[in-house]
Amino acid sequence: MISLDLPAPLEELRQRVATFVEQEILPLEDDPANFDRGENIAERPLSHLRARAKEAGLWCPQMPVARGGLGQSVAGMAVLYEEMARSRFGPVAFNCAAPDDGNMICLERCASEEQKDRWLQPIIDGRVRSAIVMTEPAPGSGSDPAGMMRTTAERRGDRYVVHGHKWFITGAEGAEHFILLARTSDDRRRGLTAMLFHRDQPGWEILRRIPIMGPEEHGGHCELRFDGLEIPVENVLMGEGLGMRVTQIRLAVARLTHCMRWLGMARRALEICMPYVREREAFGLRLADKESVQQLLGDTAMQIEVGRLLTMRAALKLDAGDRARKEVSMAKIQVADALHKAVDTAIQLMGAMGYSRDTPLEWMYRYARQARLVDGASEVHRMVVAGALLRDGDRGFFSWP
Ligand SMILES: Cc1cc2nc3c(=O)[nH]c(=O)nc-3n(C[C@H](O)[C@H](O)[C@H](O)COP(=O)(O)OP(=O)(O)OC[C@H]3O[C@@H](n4cnc5c(N)ncnc54)[C@H](O)[C@@H]3O)c2cc1C
Repeated sequence: MISLDLPAPLEELRQRVATFVEQEILPLEDDPANFDRGENIAERPLSHLRARAKEAGLWCPQMPVARGGLGQSVAGMAVLYEEMARSRFGPVAFNCAAPDDGNMICLERCASEEQKDRWLQPIIDGRVRSAIVMTEPAPGSGSDPAGMMRTTAERRGDRYVVHGHKWFITGAEGAEHFILLARTSDDRRRGLTAMLFHRDQPGWEILRRIPIMGPEEHGGHCELRFDGLEIPVENVLMGEGLGMRVTQIRLAVARLTHCMRWLGMARRALEICMPYVREREAFGLRLADKESVQQLLGDTAMQIEVGRLLTMRAALKLDAGDRARKEVSMAKIQVADALHKAVDTAIQLMGAMGYSRDTPLEWMYRYARQARLVDGASEVHRMVVAGALLRDGDRGFFSWP
């Protein structure tokens, strides 16, 4: 049967997540003392919340049951992550926030069992944080890592020696486990290799925490220099030359989990402005009764729903074993735009209060700007979508699964 109905156990889990967010997480947003210097949840309330999420059986839904997670499919994650992200503190409380979320998914899919025991399990347990180290300042790797990466890992006996310069590495200041992408040959398709290193290894340093316009993930966004870091060959993921494959596996799901969280935030933005729109009067009418306001609200709600459907379609394809490249790209473009539109609409309809710091909207507005850049700029995703259309033609592009 063709259906978008949720299976009963998933709906039950969604409701438990929703109740947890409503009762345990949202009230914390009201107290400025619960925020750290990066405008994220401070460590003390976070540890308390994480312990409570574990007790409630809501921890790490994206990870296998055998490793302490809930074994959810990507489609299941879509339902739960959206619910978690009703609060700015939600995803990290359940261990579903970037970049740990994407790094765990990457290691779960690409690492050997021994590598998982050493590098993945402590992240799942919430004992360490992680970072993905790919992007470089110009003229190095950005949108085109395969063609432009300059950081090198030179094989010497049973180790690689790394030299290079990276930046915008989310969470680097607090991370212990790092996934590094570096060049191991000049081959265009198999020139990059992914490998793991620990914070305490010598031969690299954090140059600075880059100031950004929005709130930060824990550990900030950092600029790093590598000057002789030695990585044993057993820390390579999947094999030498398969770095782009590792990246694609990581990013396919990680991009979509961004969409899942952004949808939750977009819905919250509308939720925040609704009481004002229902009650506030101007020129003898409630805002909600004005047609131009209805146009704004209706269009925004529809853009969010389009994003939800694209995200779910991509999730179902990933669960079916498809790489879902064009589906993930379409979801990423649409949801990033829907998030902007939702927050902007909510601010507009709340007037001056929308521009104040009395609501979370201005936080969300600054946060939302990264959505069109991280994990591939929207222009690059449009290139991917157009590439699929040109390659597969109308029949291939719009085929049913
Ligand atoms: C908040 C944040 C967190 C991040 N976290 C991480 C992280 O943890 N680890 C990491 O490795 N990286 C991280 N990044 C980096 C991010 O992945 C890159 O910013 C992204 O891949 C784009 O690379 P770039 O910034 O070098 O842009 P460039 O490659 O210089 O591109 C600049 C602009 O050019 C345009 N453009 C590029 N290619 C095309 C094209 N084909 N067609 C049309 N226009 C194009 C786009 O408008 C693009 O925004 C983060 C970035 C941000 C903002």
